[in-house]
Amino acid sequence: MIQLRFHCPHCDLPMRLSRWDSLENLNCPSCQRNIPTYVDAKAKEQGLLDHCLLCNAKELFRQKLFNRNLGIGIVVFGVVISILLLLFPAQSPWLNPTVPILAVALIDLLLYWLLPSMLVCYACDAEHRGFQVTPNFKLYDHLKAARVKDEPTYPGAEESH
Ligand SMILES: [Zn+2]
Ligand SMILES: [Zn+2]
Repeated sequence: MIQLRFHCPHCDLPMRLSRWDSLENLNCPSCQRNIPTYVDAKAKEQGLLDHCLLCNAKELFRQKLFNRNLGIGIVVFGVVISILLLLFPAQSPWLNPTVPILAVALIDLLLYWLLPSMLVCYACDAEHRGFQVTPNFKLYDHLKAARVKDEPTYPGAEESH
């Protein structure tokens, strides 16, 4: 299953779409204006992307679908257990206060490793989930972002400046 998260290029309304047919003829529910999309057969049939489906920009980066709040929550949980073990030492050597900290660090690492990645557009920040993420896609690069954002790449972008 795919999901696209993006903002209306005209009025900045955040949107989520997971159906191809709703992408074909897309109108913003807020400003009613038509939002052009760049769906091609390769993306639709094989889940392969070489451009942003919302603004046609070629520059995409990959990002882990890692919920930062969940990650922090797991660590906080480990710290709380660790403090409890410091206050009320357990008899077993396995319940050493450092064990929960190590355990949550490991869980976070595993989660990060197991979770899928999404592809994000440098130009318009659109998130493409459920597509194939090949090693060709690199992680976020600040220099590249600055270069891409310099030029408006979708119609109507000039108006907001
Ligand atoms: Zn709109
Ligand atoms: Zn884009």
